[in-house]
Amino acid sequence: MTFSLAIVGRPNVGKSTLFNRLVGKKLALVDDRPGVTRDRREGEGRLGDLTFRIVDTAGLEEATPASLEGRMRAQTEAAIGDCDAILFMIDARIGLTPTDRAFADLVRKAGKPVILVANKSEGRGGEAGTLEAFGLGLGDPIPLSAEHGEGLSDLYDALCDAL
Ligand code: GDP
Ligand code: MG
Repeated sequence: MTFSLAIVGRPNVGKSTLFNRLVGKKLALVDDRPGVTRDRREGEGRLGDLTFRIVDTAGLEEATPASLEGRMRAQTEAAIGDCDAILFMIDARIGLTPTDRAFADLVRKAGKPVILVANKSEGRGGEAGTLEAFGLGLGDPIPLSAEHGEGLSDLYDALCDAL
């Protein structure tokens, strides 16, 4: 195991879809420790000749609205603290939301290598959102489609550069 990567971003951007693609169901394991790590999934990711530990911040569906923000934040901070590099994902079809900007602030403060991914970029629907993501100051966004498996070679190059 060489390095660990945390997938971070607001709900519904496609983090778990990418996690499943990189880990594969066979290798995915569910961590059911209580507390902020309860919903955290970890596995061995593979992309090309790279293997790495990968953490998906997940499972916020069960949170009540009142606790949602705090749990999201705590889970994200824990994952960011543990990893060697952060994969920060936005939804290129929707563009940046205030929640994305709040997550970006957490990511920026970590002072770790960041790979900025503009997911849902299949077709042309993601171009405006990807351009917006340049403004986060977290480097050039990588257009990706986790669902369709597009952009993975650019993700590979970015992982090599970050580590
Ligand atoms: P998470 O909450 O960030 O873990 O997001 P999920 O992985 O659960 O995905 C949220 C929704 O976005 C699901 O309906 C996915 O099928 C969809 N989704 C994920 N990746 C893509 C993508 O590359 N393109 C499109 N169009 N939808 C996607
Ligand atoms: Mg998820």
